[in-house]
Amino acid sequence: MVAGGGFAAVEALLALRALLGDRAQLTVVAPTDRLACRPAAATEVFDAEPPRGYDLPAIAADVGARLRRDRVQAIAPEMHRVRLRSFATLPYDALVLALGARAQVAIPGALTFRDQRDVPQMRRLLGELRAGAVRRIAFAVPSGCSWPLPLYQLALLTARHAAERRLDAEMIVVSPARAPLDLFGPDCSRLVRGLLRERGVRFIGGSVPAEVRRGGSLALQFGGTIDVDRVVAAPQLCGPRLSGLPGRWWGFVPVDDRGRVEGLQDVYAAGDMTSFPIKEAGIAAQQADVIAHTIAAAAGEPREPIPEAAAAVHQLHARLLGGTRPLALRGRVERRGGRTLGGHAFREPVGPLSAPPRLGGRYLGEYLAGSAQVAV
Ligand SMILES: Cc1cc2nc3c(=O)[nH]c(=O)nc-3n(C[C@H](O)[C@H](O)[C@H](O)COP(=O)(O)OP(=O)(O)OC[C@H]3O[C@@H](n4cnc5c(N)ncnc54)[C@H](O)[C@@H]3O)c2cc1C
Repeated sequence: MVAGGGFAAVEALLALRALLGDRAQLTVVAPTDRLACRPAAATEVFDAEPPRGYDLPAIAADVGARLRRDRVQAIAPEMHRVRLRSFATLPYDALVLALGARAQVAIPGALTFRDQRDVPQMRRLLGELRAGAVRRIAFAVPSGCSWPLPLYQLALLTARHAAERRLDAEMIVVSPARAPLDLFGPDCSRLVRGLLRERGVRFIGGSVPAEVRRGGSLALQFGGTIDVDRVVAAPQLCGPRLSGLPGRWWGFVPVDDRGRVEGLQDVYAAGDMTSFPIKEAGIAAQQADVIAHTIAAAAGEPREPIPEAAAAVHQLHARLLGGTRPLALRGRVERRGGRTLGGHAFREPVGPLSAPPRLGGRYLGEYLAGSAQVAV
């Protein structure tokens, strides 16, 4: 059983079917019939197209999984059963949880950009910028932010939006990190700094944004304020609320190197809900792959397991738009602890703003590239 309807869940389904063939009966429990393309949320602000995603019932049919439109509410690992919101209970042999994270306000008073849900608010802010009611906007990365890239993307594209209309505007990225997007390593950081400069976006590093004061200025945690008209912030993420599951800091679920939930038998977790410090779609898919291989091996499937060395490192793939050409960012992080091992960046050929970002994972990227997108 796979619980969730995001990238981690779909990669788990694809990988389990590929590894176990007809031997596995797959059930997926998800509250929605859309796989939302959350990484596209920042660019969708500037795009006339409606938000895009993929059709979950079609994906379930492709992999031969039974889709149950419901929510997992509790697990009873000793009985190998889950309880759903509809009060139905279902049995499983192996359970893969891929429930994502919950987003909360990290900087009170700021526009918290979670995903597609906040595109209308961001578009309203652009309207105020065009009308001259707003001139200086801070894009604030809160302390402990697990994926700051969308804020950089919003800052760069807002700066481009203003420059194309010759507006008198200033964008500022405020971050606790000393260097921009340092999770990709120093080489990428240098190129990101160059891209920010090219677009006239100021970077204020080593500063922890705390709250928005009356009048709009951004107060910093250890004193001082930054004078701006508006603040856009990333959310504070926290783990899912599910009875029967262990939780660490902020409710994230602790897992071992193979994705097994600490202390529970035959229960695995992947993606944003786990205690891994970086929340990224490619990492979510790579974690789902490791889990699928572990389940297949336990089921006696002789196919090659993911080598230890590959399972120990996560590959990060991202793309920053806003400059003359997209900037591709590649990074490597340790699976245990999330320490950055290095990375590199390069300029990609110019592509359409709406081109879906390339996603990691063994099966997901290729599968989605061959699937039609639908309105969310
Ligand atoms: C604005 C933004 C930009 C991003 N940009 C990038 C990027 O450029 N590159 C990148 O790799 N990543 C990016 N990310 C991160 C990426 O979107 C996440 O890491 C990824 O979506 C995590 O996948 P997931 O499957 O773990 O969780 P989610 O995508 O959150 O999916 C969780 C799923 O579980 C379902 N669910 C929740 N509770 C239950 C329940 N109780 N029972 C059953 N189902 C449940 C939800 O409905 C959802 O379908 C971005 C994220 C955001 C918000």
